[in-house]
Amino acid sequence: MESKFEWGLGNCSIFVLKPCNLKTLSAIVFADEDGHRLNAGGRILLKNQHGENITAKYVVITVPLTILKDGDITFVPKLPADKNRAINTIQMLRAWKIICQFKRRFWPEKLHQIYSVRGFSSEIWMWSRGSAVNDDNCHVVVGLETAESAEQKSSLSGQQVLEGFLSYLDEMFGTPSDPHPATDSFLDYVYFHRSNHLFIRGGYTSLTAHVHDLRHLFARPVEDRLFFAGSKL
Ligand SMILES: Cc1cc2nc3c(=O)[nH]c(=O)nc-3n(C[C@H](O)[C@H](O)[C@H](O)COP(=O)(O)OP(=O)(O)OC[C@H]3O[C@@H](n4cnc5c(N)ncnc54)[C@H](O)[C@@H]3O)c2cc1C
Repeated sequence: MESKFEWGLGNCSIFVLKPCNLKTLSAIVFADEDGHRLNAGGRILLKNQHGENITAKYVVITVPLTILKDGDITFVPKLPADKNRAINTIQMLRAWKIICQFKRRFWPEKLHQIYSVRGFSSEIWMWSRGSAVNDDNCHVVVGLETAESAEQKSSLSGQQVLEGFLSYLDEMFGTPSDPHPATDSFLDYVYFHRSNHLFIRGGYTSLTAHVHDLRHLFARPVEDRLFFAGSKL
């Protein structure tokens, strides 16, 4: 378990637990040795997968929803049934992002964002800075794909996503005299597929029908000691 930040608030300590040397939080024990729920004074026991322990009076859980769905963390006793229902029902599908740098701006100056529902990347942003007096130029296009469309492309490598993205930009911005503006002016790229990360396994929690109330259930603390937070809410 990784870092401990001491805050200058009397004896209040905040531990931030992150996977470190593959030590991940594997259990939150919220009961005494006889299996009874802790009273207000009792401390919550946190275990990693090597059996190392720390205790805390309050716990804020910010791991991605996928980690809770997959049962990486055992709760003793089990979380309330309605919270488990929320965890199991709310979806967290895939998402990836690609950031490409170009030698020149090949899109209209005032164009900054494109929503392209059936395109290779459904959301595209462009950012450009050019200087008339020196070489301080930077032209960047970002592609974001989420949910089912990202699932469909989940087996593509970074290079394949790059090729698909460049040819999609060429298709949009190519002209008879300049048919491959993106491919021809491409400099460099970064690709990140969050769903493939060992400790994240997903992109965003998707707003699907009938989950609104479940989000409230999911966010609700357990006995004012165990709190749930993070972008999954
Ligand atoms: C493709 C993509 C691109 C994005 N780009 C941007 C961007 O450009 N700018 C921006 O502001 N936001 C961006 N976001 C949103 C941003 O990434 C999220 O809002 C933010 O990371 C959410 O923070 P979080 O702490 O809730 O979850 P996370 O950042 O997912 O953090 C959860 C943490 O829990 C840890 N964890 C998992 N299992 C355990 C365990 N068992 N024990 C202990 N720890 C564990 C994980 O390692 C991770 O560190 C992007 C999101 C996606 C999907």
